[in-house]
Amino acid sequence: MVSVPVLCPYCQSTEVIKAGKQANGTQRYQCQNEQCARRIFLLQYQDRGRALEIRRQVIDMAINGSGIRDTAHVLRISPTTVIAVLKKSRRAATRQPHVAASSLCTRRPRPGRKRRRAR
Ligand SMILES: [Zn+2]
Repeated sequence: MVSVPVLCPYCQSTEVIKAGKQANGTQRYQCQNEQCARRIFLLQYQDRGRALEIRRQVIDMAINGSGIRDTAHVLRISPTTVIAVLKKSRRAATRQPHVAASSLCTRRPRPGRKRRRAR
């Protein structure tokens, strides 16, 4: 008998436990790494838009200025899937501890520069 270790596709951690099954009977896994952005994953997705590689491409295309319909057509997934991936990617990014969302959007006034009134 050969046992193959299950790796988390997001953080490559081997600390993975089984987490029930999908409605269609596919085994679900849960990553035990606290810092991991993704907890539940499958080894083989039936749905093309759920695969990690496609999700990364969706985000890359959005950063490079592609529209939702454009992305959906090129990656052969539905426009609603593109929207769902983009919404969830934002949530996952704010969950990571090293990217504090509050530190990205604080505006501090520059010190030592005051405007003078012209007379
Ligand atoms: Zn993980």
